[in-house]
Amino acid sequence: MHLILFGAPGVGKGTQAKILSLKLGIPHISTGDILRAAFKAQTELGIKAHKIMSSGELVSDEIMIGIIRDTLLDSKCSKGFILDGYPRTLAQANAFDKLLEELNIIKKIFLISLRTNEEELIVRLTNRRACSKCQEIFNYNDIKDSDICPNCGAIKSFYHRSDDQEEVIRNRFRIFQSVTFPLLEHYEKMGKVISVDGFQPVEKVSEDILNSLAIKCGKKIAISA
Ligand SMILES: [Zn+2]
Repeated sequence: MHLILFGAPGVGKGTQAKILSLKLGIPHISTGDILRAAFKAQTELGIKAHKIMSSGELVSDEIMIGIIRDTLLDSKCSKGFILDGYPRTLAQANAFDKLLEELNIIKKIFLISLRTNEEELIVRLTNRRACSKCQEIFNYNDIKDSDICPNCGAIKSFYHRSDDQEEVIRNRFRIFQSVTFPLLEHYEKMGKVISVDGFQPVEKVSEDILNSLAIKCGKKIAISA
């Protein structure tokens, strides 16, 4: 199973990637994680990328595809992978498609699109509060009558992260719409898109993804947990 998770910021790609990784027994590959791993392993590209990020710059597409390439060639990805946060632009998608062709897995790739209602998602995201002690995130409606963190017991530790402020969220959505959204059409043309309602409870979203994958692949999927 070779999957790209696609969806607006905050729709829950990371959460789904973790669940699918467990259920399908394939690694969850987030760009942040593989950049850190490449630096830790002191690969040539990892060191380059670290230098660039340390100076506050963005890692170029060329370096990124090189790191993705190294990652996909690793034996832990031999049965597949779940990409979360890559490709992010059409240029990256074109480079990625070439890599998939080279690795002979282009036929196996699917893009899972987590659909959402943007305005409802903005309400959900601006309603988040974090605990400054344990960093757990809660829905404001669940904690508004309390000043004790249900996770770690800290008192008056809730705060509104800058990432959860409406203007910040709207800006991330604008960037997503203009830069990342065209990927959907790109992979739709290739017949690679599996579209799921991402605004349902987490378990239902996973269930829909697994069912759609089974239909698309025309066979039962081995689920390990
Ligand atoms: Zn806490």
